[in-house]
Amino acid sequence: MERKKFFIFGGDERNIELARLLIKDGQEVLLFGFEKLDLDLPQSKDPFKDGSDADIIISGLPMSKDQKTLNAPFSSREIFIEELLELLSNEQIFTAGKIGKEFFKKRKDIKIEDYFMREEMQVSNAIPTAEGAIQIAMEEMQITLHKANTMVLGYGRIGKALSKMLLGIGANVYVEARSYDDLAWVQNNGYIPVHLRELSNHIGRMDVIFNTIPSTILDENLLNKVCKDCILIDLASKPGGIDWKKAEELDRKAISAIGLPGKVAPITAATIIKDTIYNIITEGGR
Ligand code: NAP
Repeated sequence: MERKKFFIFGGDERNIELARLLIKDGQEVLLFGFEKLDLDLPQSKDPFKDGSDADIIISGLPMSKDQKTLNAPFSSREIFIEELLELLSNEQIFTAGKIGKEFFKKRKDIKIEDYFMREEMQVSNAIPTAEGAIQIAMEEMQITLHKANTMVLGYGRIGKALSKMLLGIGANVYVEARSYDDLAWVQNNGYIPVHLRELSNHIGRMDVIFNTIPSTILDENLLNKVCKDCILIDLASKPGGIDWKKAEELDRKAISAIGLPGKVAPITAATIIKDTIYNIITEGGR
């Protein structure tokens, strides 16, 4: 990629890693919104002076937590979305994660793209997520994953990455899906297919269950069938796929494990963001 000027406007640790990776690639990088940290990276004091000629402006993931200010936990002051809107010009590309529909409506004249919505980002993120899930399982289980009965609920991006790793470790891998297409692929790839409707017939034999379904799947009925020693690891975004209240009442060991890429592999997580941003630049932004 030809050298460009990147202006990082807020964000958390991931944007610091991202800045380091961009600099390693020979890019020009300036950060704003990290004054609380003693960083060995070039920081701007004035976004309007330093950011207006940047080729790419990058905010955090999520871009904002309150839709008024940027997500910038290391900034010494609140940075308002209005400031960002004022800074952006139609010669720049703006990207961040989970931008929100309202923001797109406010500036139809500029190239904005949400890197988190891109398929390559989510597919790549499935790998550190699956590795993190296996790490948690290994820490929590009293037996090896090798020869353990493992079940993956959902055969989307994370379900696919995780099943493959579990099979490689030597686990008995049961994979739940609700579509016959997916179940055929589950079988083709060497896992034991379980239709959603048949879940209750298998769930009681599992040593560990990984949920990737973003909807309550492990309800009271299924939780009653899960054995007490089974570890339930919920990977789906909040509220996840477990009836948490029932799991507690029934004394089931349920763990919510979200944001794993940034936690277990921060450099990989930042590399995935960087690669996705390079793809956005190559395509010229939307
Ligand atoms: P995905 O590719 O969309 O896969 C989701 C799977 O859930 C699909 O198999 C889908 O089946 C199934 N599903 C959805 N709704 C269902 C329902 N009501 N009943 C039964 N099955 C249902 O998503 P993904 O990329 O694997 O991500 C899964 C979840 O993990 C998301 O919530 C995502 O935000 C989250 N996530 C977590 C982490 C982490 O660190 N823990 C990291 C990244 C993402 P169909 O194909 O039949 O719809």
